[in-house]
Order: sequence, then C-alpha cells, then structure tokens
Amino acid sequence: MTPERFESWLKVDRKGLYCPPGGFHIDPHGAVRRAIVTHGHSDHARPGHDAVLATKETLAIMGARLGEGAPRRPQATACGEPLAIGDVTVTLFPAGHVLGSAQVLIEYKGTRVVISGDYKRSADPTCAPFALVPCDLFITEATFALPVFQHGDARAEVAKLLTSVEQFPERAHVVGAYGLGKTQRVIALLREAGYERPIYLHGALQACCDLYESFGVSLGVLLPATSAKRDDLEGAIVLAPPSAIADRWSRRLPDPVTAFASGWMRVRARARQQGIELPLVISDHADWRELTETITETGAEEVWVTHGREDALLHHIETTGRRGRALALIGREDEDP
Ligand SMILES: [Zn+2]
Ligand SMILES: [Zn+2]
Repeated sequence: MTPERFESWLKVDRKGLYCPPGGFHIDPHGAVRRAIVTHGHSDHARPGHDAVLATKETLAIMGARLGEGAPRRPQATACGEPLAIGDVTVTLFPAGHVLGSAQVLIEYKGTRVVISGDYKRSADPTCAPFALVPCDLFITEATFALPVFQHGDARAEVAKLLTSVEQFPERAHVVGAYGLGKTQRVIALLREAGYERPIYLHGALQACCDLYESFGVSLGVLLPATSAKRDDLEGAIVLAPPSAIADRWSRRLPDPVTAFASGWMRVRARARQQGIELPLVISDHADWRELTETITETGAEEVWVTHGREDALLHHIETTGRRGRALALIGREDEDP
C-alpha cells in the first residue's frame, strides 16, 4: 500500500472534496452536478446543486432554507443503507450534530473512508446519536481542535440558565443560539430539565423549530417574542440569533440578561468581548477529547483534517503514529455551525 492510495480516488478540486470513481462532491462550497451533503448548515449545504444525496431531514432543511437554490434533483437516503454510486458504495451514518446530520462512508476496492462532517458524541435529544464507523481513512472536522476545548455537560449549562431565571424573575433572559440545531437543542434541554413555561422566539428561529416538530421532535409551547407583551417577557426565556442579542431588537425586552449558547463560550474573553453576561458552553461539535478519542476508535491509519484548527490535531495524529494531512477547503470559516 502506497501512502498515496487515498489521494488517487479522493481529490480536492475548486469546489471541494471530490470522489472521481463515484462522480460526486461531498459538501462542495460551489454548485455542482452531483453532491452528497452531510447536513443543512449553510457552510455545508450550498445552493445551486443539481443532484443531491442526503438524509430526508437534510433535504427538507435545504428545501426550506435555500428556496430557488434548493437541489433540483434531491435523493433521500436512510442511514445505514448502502448505495452503489458509480464504482463506489456510499452509506450514511448519524453524526449527532443536528437533525439529519450524517457521516459519509465511501467504500472503494476494499478501502473504507469516512467523512465525519460536523459531529459530536454527547447526547442530544433532538437528533440521532453519532455512530462509530470503522475505517481506513477518517476525514474529520476540527472546529474545536484545541485541548482547551472541553465542552462538559450541556445539562449543567441549562441548569445555570434556570438558576439565573429563578434569581432574576423580573428580567428577560435572552439566549443567543444558532437557528438550526442549537436553538432546538437548548429548548429540548430546557424541557428535559422540567421547564414547562412558554419559550419565546425571535422570528428568525421559528421556521427551523417548525421543521424539527414536523420530524417528531417536540419542543413544547413556543411563542413569538415580537408580539408578546412586555409583562409576559419578565422572567421569560427568549431565544434569538446571536446577531440579535446585541442589537436594538433585544432592547425592547425587560432588562435582559444576555446569554449565548456556544462552544466558544469556553473562552471567557470572547464572552466578555461580546458583552455576554451568562455564557453557556453548549456545543454541537466534538471537543478535543471527543475528536482524539474518535480518531482512535475508528481504527483509521490515516486522518485528514478539515474545517478549523488543524495544527494541534495534526500534531496529535502524528504522535499516535498515524499519517495526518490538512485538507485545505475553501468556504469553511471560523464558525460554530
Ligand atoms: Zn454544522
Ligand atoms: Zn460546519
């Protein structure tokens, strides 16, 4: 086996990662003829593709968010069902990241490659749990690939929020959360913790919540924040996109406590800089321990790192005797989704 054996059938071209014997890209950042899309976040699910293979949830999310740019030929596939495409076999497995998120297993001439997409190992009541898939080459995300990132238990963070609500019953608690995934996870965690009061939403978050509900994820009573009376918002929990918590929108709320649910909240300086009073370390990505343990557990002899901070993870990979490679892909930003 030569070290080049994966590179001969998995390449990076102008649009991103491409599999010639299958004739498809995986999460390409530009419009392509044929794509496999791991999940609905905008840095993975781009507009303008012709054929797209994904889970039915991801296709529904793309349809709802991309409008005209939605896939022209969507093909839904269930996790765990192998599919022959060209000379390769493709199987999706749950990634535990957001509703419908999947890892992609590609088998070619007896070799197994898994592309993780974004993933996490910790429990999430709103999506199927991560499945460990043994492989020869593991292509991993690296959003939080520094030892400092230890996400801890999301339930403890939600408990902090509930304690604060109890402490300040006259103040609204506005929680910044990304619309797809984080919002629904925070709501579901609040419900799990026994919080039964209505939860108020910024208008931008409604559509994704409806979509989750349509796939059987129950989120309890959700009300629009904009039409709520000021009195009703005293002591209430209001979810809003991160961009809205610092702007005029949140000023209409009664003396708001600003919270933000994100893996980045582990970096206290970042929370302070953004004026976040109540940082909640809740991440939908693997932390350092999850990333390194997952690499070991896949049994992969080679690991390609994409999407984030490669250096520390590549160093770690090499110290474990594996071959590592930084996969420079355009369009992957320093973001949480
Ligand atoms: Zn994502
Ligand atoms: Zn991503």
